[in-house]
Amino acid sequence: MAGKKTIGVLALQGAFIEHEAALQRCGVQTRQVRRPQELGEIDGLVIPGGESTTIGKLMQKFGLDTVIKKKAIEGMPIWGTCAGMILLAQEIDDGDQPRLGLMDIRVKRNAFGRQVDSFEADLDIEGIGPTRGVFIRAPYAERVWGNVQVMARYQDKIVMVQQGHLLGTAFHPELTNQGNIHRYFLEMV
Ligand code: GLN
Repeated sequence: MAGKKTIGVLALQGAFIEHEAALQRCGVQTRQVRRPQELGEIDGLVIPGGESTTIGKLMQKFGLDTVIKKKAIEGMPIWGTCAGMILLAQEIDDGDQPRLGLMDIRVKRNAFGRQVDSFEADLDIEGIGPTRGVFIRAPYAERVWGNVQVMARYQDKIVMVQQGHLLGTAFHPELTNQGNIHRYFLEMV
């Protein structure tokens, strides 16, 4: 055995510190990823929540997007939360912002309305069970195709998807202490 797994957390902008802490509570090593070569040193990657337009532009600027796509095609597990899920999507409802386009989903940004910026809800996740979901200016998936599996809905809207080694959550599991989604992702790694 090669010892402890190392999970990279894309650390350009957004909630990467919280993801690192949650992953460390699960007993894995973490590494902040800001440069393409750091992608060679990890077993899986988390793309955190934040501002998807900013993260997308920075990924391009630092040449991370092409390497992440290459690693994804080679099979590296990737989990995107909120802005991260937007960046994984092939289609984004309102524009042509930079993205990885790895998952067969169409997302709508800030999709739960302006009045309700943030909220929490109890979700029942396929194969995982009851989970508290923290939503912050969250997207949802309007449409999925290919072999995408819908894992959770909130008020009929798709808020969690999996496509093979790619995982997307519209909510923020790094902001609760439950740890179950982090453990689920680590099983994929
Ligand atoms: N609304 C943000 C976006 O569109 C995502 C919000 C979040 O990641 N919490 O990028």
